[in-house]
Amino acid sequence: MSRIAYVNGRYVPHSQATVHVEDRGLQFADGVYEVVALWRGLPVDLGPHLDRLETGLAYLRIPMPMSRRALALVLRETVRRNGIRTGIVYLQINRGVAPRLHTWGDDLSPSVIVTARRMASLARPTIEEGVKVISVPDIRWKRRDIKTVGLLANVLAKQQAHEAGCPEVYQVDDDGMVTEAGSSNAWMVDADGRLITRPLGHEILPGITRQRLIVLARAAGMEVVERPFSLDEAKRARESFFSSTTNFVMPVVQVDDAVIGNGRPGSVSGALRALYMDYLKDLPADAWTAAT
Ligand code: PLP
Repeated sequence: MSRIAYVNGRYVPHSQATVHVEDRGLQFADGVYEVVALWRGLPVDLGPHLDRLETGLAYLRIPMPMSRRALALVLRETVRRNGIRTGIVYLQINRGVAPRLHTWGDDLSPSVIVTARRMASLARPTIEEGVKVISVPDIRWKRRDIKTVGLLANVLAKQQAHEAGCPEVYQVDDDGMVTEAGSSNAWMVDADGRLITRPLGHEILPGITRQRLIVLARAAGMEVVERPFSLDEAKRARESFFSSTTNFVMPVVQVDDAVIGNGRPGSVSGALRALYMDYLKDLPADAWTAAT
């Protein structure tokens, strides 16, 4: 099946899916995006993703280009046209097209781009090996809670990790505290088995997976503490892992040169991943419409 993308009101072959050269998303990273996981054809936590999208648009003062319901229909139709059951759907909304000038007028129509792709790796029930991460200074702007397409610091950090043979980074602020990973939220498990993750604020993205995991963990009687933790503490942790739409719960077995625990994925992260996989099994059949 050939890939289809949605661009500004039209479903087009992926190879012909283009935006204007003066789209502000291209010239200023003036836009926001969401990545929603698809599980057996259903979107995972679409409602919270649309909430976060609306928060970001409001902060940037970009109007919602269409209703939540219409947006969900476009996402669903793109997924359908690509025949995807396990994968991701990507949505980007840019401020619009205008002659290049930092300031903007009030006559712009936001650009809307939707793509979808298969991702078989999502279906892995357990993670046998765990991964290594390196730490890097967090050099991003001060509104990391807004999911803008301005991802250059994350891109450079993740490329550095990639060249060091690691899939992720832990970003560290000026006080030596871990903010988050390059495209996921960072967690650790302390000596008492408590789950620790940084509280929400301007310093990190409010991950949808992070939030879902907090709810699932607490419902299962696991203790979750939202507090900052240092890179040093992460290196001495019993376990560490990161969470995101495309990784769910990914155990970290080494941070820089420090081996975490016994160097194998830990039981707490394993239990949390199992809770999340169970949650996916029970997604409501009306997940496309309930969110709107
Ligand atoms: N933090 C950053 C910087 C991210 O880019 C992402 C996802 O792309 C996350 C955290 C995890 O967020 P979510 O669970 O909504 O995928």
